[in-house]
Amino acid sequence: MPEEKLTEPDKELTLKESESKYRELFDNAHDSMYTLDTAGCFQTINRAGLKILGAEKEEIIGSHISKWLTPESLKAALEVLKKQIAGEDVEHPVLLEVICKNGEHKWGEIRTRCMRDGDRITGIHGIARDITEKKKLEQELLASEAKYRDLFENADDPMFTLNEDGHFVALNTAGLKILGCATEEIIGTHISEWMTKESYGITREVMKKRMLGEAVEPPSIIEMICKNGEHRWVEGRSRLIKDGDRITGFHGIARNITEKRRLEQQLEEYHNKLLKSYEELIEADRMKTEFVSNITHELLTPMTSIRGFTELLMDGTAGKINDKQKKSLEIILRNSDRLIRLIKDLLDAANLEKKSFGMQFELVSVNDIISKCVQDITPEANKRKITIVRGTSQISSIWGDEERLTQVIMNLIVNAIKFTPEEGTITIASCEDKDCVRISMADTGIGIPADQLCRIFDRFYQIDGSNSRKYGGTGLGLSICKSIIEKHYGSIWAESSGNGSIFHITLPMLGYEKKKEG
Ligand code: ADP
Repeated sequence: MPEEKLTEPDKELTLKESESKYRELFDNAHDSMYTLDTAGCFQTINRAGLKILGAEKEEIIGSHISKWLTPESLKAALEVLKKQIAGEDVEHPVLLEVICKNGEHKWGEIRTRCMRDGDRITGIHGIARDITEKKKLEQELLASEAKYRDLFENADDPMFTLNEDGHFVALNTAGLKILGCATEEIIGTHISEWMTKESYGITREVMKKRMLGEAVEPPSIIEMICKNGEHRWVEGRSRLIKDGDRITGFHGIARNITEKRRLEQQLEEYHNKLLKSYEELIEADRMKTEFVSNITHELLTPMTSIRGFTELLMDGTAGKINDKQKKSLEIILRNSDRLIRLIKDLLDAANLEKKSFGMQFELVSVNDIISKCVQDITPEANKRKITIVRGTSQISSIWGDEERLTQVIMNLIVNAIKFTPEEGTITIASCEDKDCVRISMADTGIGIPADQLCRIFDRFYQIDGSNSRKYGGTGLGLSICKSIIEKHYGSIWAESSGNGSIFHITLPMLGYEKKKEG
């Protein structure tokens, strides 16, 4: 078909149609579009562009880009303009920060090209995409990342990131401080280089378990080796880092427990030393008990013999003796008795320690025991003009060791006489109460200070323990009494009101069917 020749008016019409088509495309484009002259002043701008800047067309057309850009972005935009006019390559897109009419800042990703009239560059045509939302998200992400980085870097505890093989990817300041090294000295190195073999064994096990999804008992105690060779202790916890299903490494946090560990080790050393001293002490005590036990046995035999022969001499069996000799023999006898009592006390104390204090249980009458003791001690009491008052009521027999219970009652009466001034009174009472027998012994003696009432039952304890003490004795009697009473499942205690002392004893009847004494 022959080419149709267009008339001048037709050409003008086609051109107008085409111009209006492109104008419509330009105006309704989703992205902002504009043209600038070579000086950087707006010649045209589409609706999307107006919307971004929030201004009317008249406010923009003719204005220079400097009115709508931040100083840095203006610098970048003028650089692009200059390069394009000079025909140089420009890297697209260019990121510009736009200042809207209301002062708000927005971000655009801009692509530009030159407009030409023949060879002459007449201006710049630009397309801008609003990426403000993306930029805001990016900035928020950056701020959040900076916040977490700050937390990581400035945490008091060491924090680290390892890759899946155990190489350091990151270590915060606290971690660097513990190991005494710089970031570049640790990043990329393997964790095994910074801990003892045993600790690496533990760490490797934990990493393996974590990778297999098995339970790990946190925290692990790890012995780290610092750059200077010093060893430090940390308590470490870790967790996996995953990218989807893929394991990419480990995050960890550790606590420096070096000081705690050092104190623990010191404590353990002290404990071991103390234990050793304690064992040595026990051994020394055992040897002393053994010695006391042996020596008292050795002393008792000759003393018993001395006493026996003294009695024989006094009886006149070995020949007649005069009064003077009798008096001397009486003194020997009295002191032999005293010495034998002392030796027996020592022997009892040693046997109690060795736990070889034998007891012979049988049915015994507490009233009979008291009566016998009172009878035996009366001459001694009379010498001191001390009255013994005996208050009795009928009481059941109990299951006990007669000899040992006699020893207890005798000890209490001897003490009462010893600590009571002349013309004093000792009152001994006994009664039955529910399932036990009660004995009390009150004296009008010197009394016992309240803070000493418990201590007098300790071994070797005497209220007046000084060398110049008035009353003599060993301080063993009451501790032996306490042991004997406790072996009867009973109790013994003292009271003192300042007007003498009262000693109390309770002895259980231990399920024995009550049988009243006749
Ligand atoms: P010892 O009489 O050989 O010193 P004891 O163990 O029998 O040892 O008594 C311990 C201490 O208790 C005595 O030294 C004395 O200080 C105090 N004591 C015991 N009985 C009486 C009492 N009836 N009155 C005052 N003090 C007493």
